Amino acid sequence: MNYFDDTIAAISTPVGQGGIGIVRISGTKSIEIADKIFKSKKQGRLSNAKPSMLYGHVVYPVNGNVIDEVLVSVMRSPNSYTKEDVVEINCHGGMISVKRILEIILEQGARLAEPGEFTKRAFLNGRINLSQAEAVLDLINAKTDESMRIALEQLKGGLSERLSVIRKALIEICASAEAYIDFPEDEIEIKTGKQMIKQIKEIRHEIEHLSRTFQEARFFRDGLSVAIIGRPNVGKSSLLNALLKKDKAIVTEIPGTTRDLIEDYLNINGLPIRMMDTAGIRNSDETIEKEGIRRSLNAMDNADFIIAMFDGSEEMTEDDIELLEKVKDKNAVIAVSKADLPPRISTDIIQKTGRRCLYISALTGDGLEDLKSFIFNSNLKNWKEEREGIVVTNLRHKQALDRASSSLEKAAGLLSDNQPLEIFSIELRDALDSIGSIIGTVTTEDILDKIFSDFCIGK
Ligand code: GDP
Repeated sequence: MNYFDDTIAAISTPVGQGGIGIVRISGTKSIEIADKIFKSKKQGRLSNAKPSMLYGHVVYPVNGNVIDEVLVSVMRSPNSYTKEDVVEINCHGGMISVKRILEIILEQGARLAEPGEFTKRAFLNGRINLSQAEAVLDLINAKTDESMRIALEQLKGGLSERLSVIRKALIEICASAEAYIDFPEDEIEIKTGKQMIKQIKEIRHEIEHLSRTFQEARFFRDGLSVAIIGRPNVGKSSLLNALLKKDKAIVTEIPGTTRDLIEDYLNINGLPIRMMDTAGIRNSDETIEKEGIRRSLNAMDNADFIIAMFDGSEEMTEDDIELLEKVKDKNAVIAVSKADLPPRISTDIIQKTGRRCLYISALTGDGLEDLKSFIFNSNLKNWKEEREGIVVTNLRHKQALDRASSSLEKAAGLLSDNQPLEIFSIELRDALDSIGSIIGTVTTEDILDKIFSDFCIGK
């Protein structure tokens, strides 16, 4: 039995020109609707077709005029992405054909799918759990092979399996505690109580371990944001270009030309780096430049990592010293630029900060590999070990794990203080609900809406 009555349709390929475009239909009426618009001389009706691909044409149902030449695949419930009957029409790429086909499908009674609705159906019809549905989104958004590998692991059910084991253990403790509540004449034995506390401690340990992996694993999903900060003309845009090996940021000799933040992704050993080039920071009266500077300071506060840049071919300025002060307590590296030019900078002040100082040249590429390694190693200190295990990349999951851990801490405390088992059991159930919210056994419409609205239409 499927969760939904209505049939949905959407264009599942990106907007724009391409070799093919795919229109997807899912729901009880999908085959019936597709049959009204599909004509194939040799292969007959879709409703009689075995799961396969059929060659034919999409036509206007009223007059039989051909819209496009197509290949249509039919996937019958429950053997499809949504577990419903699904028809996918592969037509020629380009916006006209896919749009026309979608329009006539909607005219025949399907409804336009909401963002992520196919995946939402896959979840609500029980084909995948919620963390797997979220992994689908991570797969679509994956920036590097490593991000892809981690998302695939989650889609395969690695995290959900681990959480199921944790839930099972918690349910057992809950059941034995509740048995004592039901038979109040049986006081819980000290030995049993101690045993429960020990088990809860072990479970908490595991939950906390999973939660800790988020610290580094999240970068593979969301990217590590790196801001290059420094006064105008120290070579920030040039560094960004050299790292990205393409002309993304504008490089000029007029100080203060990078007025907005420029973002692009860089791949360091599979770690997606969101590079942010920023307007040079200096004291300025010019309004637009001031706005740029405000944004730079903002980027500095929001970035996961900062490259504080100083021009090696010039002497240190007041602005430089101010910057050194600003990054004092930040996760940052000091980069001294233009190492190909005769050095004029006196690095005494930098040395005093005790920070690592890297000499780089965007022109020759010297020092760039060291810089990349430094960024990777200083942000992924535990990654070598964690890479082998199950990791948490999604903030929603981490927060749920933390809630579970704190409920378990309270539960164990209540038990060791000989508090009533009823309140102990409530805490255990809260922990169970928190874990359940990750895989979707416990969830609300709000949460689902939030998760699936991040998807694109057609997925
Ligand atoms: P930004 O204002 O900090 O973004 O600085 P730019 O990247 O626009 O560079 C300012 C000037 O310094 C330009 O003329 C660049 O060609 C020059 N420059 C940047 N990096 C290097 C470098 O590594 N070596 C040399 N010789 N010049 C550089």
